[in-house]
Amino acid sequence: MECMCGKKMKEAQVEFAGFKLKGFKCGCGEEALSPADVELVRQLKHEPIKARRVAHSLVITLPKPLAEIADIREGDMLNWTISGNQLIVQKKVLG
Ligand SMILES: [Zn+2]
Repeated sequence: MECMCGKKMKEAQVEFAGFKLKGFKCGCGEEALSPADVELVRQLKHEPIKARRVAHSLVITLPKPLAEIADIREGDMLNWTISGNQLIVQKKVLG
């Protein structure tokens, strides 16, 4: 992928609306994201996630695209913290 400045852009993580997406960066500071990814994040941001009751616990379901962006897979161990009224879930880095 070529940048507006004429140089080649390299694959890199690009931050958008608090998400880290696969995109492209150039040495000149220009960043690029796939329009489909940007649209997906916009949609996900406006779709609340429902907590369901299963036995004595609550289950929160991650839509597949959100799980993919967050790189969370079945069986992954997740660390969590509470910050104010936010529940922050983070993939546990092993090793
Ligand atoms: Zn450039």
